[in-house]
Amino acid sequence: MNQEMESSASSETTVWDVLHLSGSPHIPSSVNVPHAWLLLGPTGSGKRLTALAMAAAFNCPELPGVGCGVCSTCTRIISGRHPDLHLIAPEGQVISVETIRAGVIPEAARSPFEARRKVFVIEEAERMHPSAQNALLKTLEEPPEDTIIILVCDQEDELLETVRSRCRVVHFQRVPSGAIQGILEAEGAETPVARLAARIADGDINRARSFALEPEAQSRHRSFAGVPARLTSSLEALDAAAEIVTEAATAVKERSEAQKQEVVELAAALGEGRGTASARASLAKRHKRELRRLENEVLNEALWTIASWYRDVLTARRGAPEAIANLDLTPDLGRWAVALEPDDRSLVAAIHRCATTPGALARNANPSLAIEATLVELARLAPPPAESMPVD
Ligand SMILES: [Zn+2]
Repeated sequence: MNQEMESSASSETTVWDVLHLSGSPHIPSSVNVPHAWLLLGPTGSGKRLTALAMAAAFNCPELPGVGCGVCSTCTRIISGRHPDLHLIAPEGQVISVETIRAGVIPEAARSPFEARRKVFVIEEAERMHPSAQNALLKTLEEPPEDTIIILVCDQEDELLETVRSRCRVVHFQRVPSGAIQGILEAEGAETPVARLAARIADGDINRARSFALEPEAQSRHRSFAGVPARLTSSLEALDAAAEIVTEAATAVKERSEAQKQEVVELAAALGEGRGTASARASLAKRHKRELRRLENEVLNEALWTIASWYRDVLTARRGAPEAIANLDLTPDLGRWAVALEPDDRSLVAAIHRCATTPGALARNANPSLAIEATLVELARLAPPPAESMPVD
């Protein structure tokens, strides 16, 4: 970790506490902070939240350099609704050169609306098209005095060396399961739920959080984890596929309702005036992107959960109960573990099948067809052992 990373040494509550980031790298509180940052690490390791905490710390009038986490500036930044916070993310597969030319370069040259510094957070920076990365170089090298650029990135090898070398790099690690449990409990989750969420999340705090704090996510998880036991025939597989696709559609519909509320709140917060049109436009874009992603997220969650079931069966056969993710379904797991079929090889093939579908979805495959094909294949590869079929 970087030498300049230090803890916010204070007994007061800070933005880092509010966002439960005390285990993450912190930023220095000195005035001479670097203008270009690269936060690197696996999905769900807290990079995006840290970027927001940094933006709050740079601008908080109450605890400058640390961020109080509760003032109007901090809360608006944390929720992504501050006019001097510019969130840039891929639209579709890439961040295009146009996005950088229109959304970053001219904005960086302007003075802040109200905060001390403008902060640009470029999410999934590895998706910047090479031409977009090149377009960003000059701004990264000589950013205006009141501008901070934070690149958030999962895969650094996709970034040009010229971009990388201009940034202060901060490395993030997968969040240990015990730490995830602690964070979730601090956020109000019951201990058994937090423990289960930490186990199934595989170091991804976002996945764990959505599981622990959203009852819908828990009921989705239960229904997805029950899918392998239902795959007795192609017909059953098609039924289960239809349910999964419906779950995704329901999640999209609910999020879309929440977004309408957000638009109302933004309008109330901003009023009319300089920059409000662009804030509205960027919110609308973000919403569209969110919905497009959410469907895939739910489908991927289904595949991941189904795969975790097969993995658990393998784990149970090897007598390593501490590594089992689906703790709530252990009796059924035991039945699968002692059965001869599906054998280990079929389970591995099934896991592999689950792992290839998200790639197809990302390449814009038809979601229904992709899920149907996957489940039909799983029914062929790893039908449930006879004992676990429902008897009526
Ligand atoms: Zn503050």
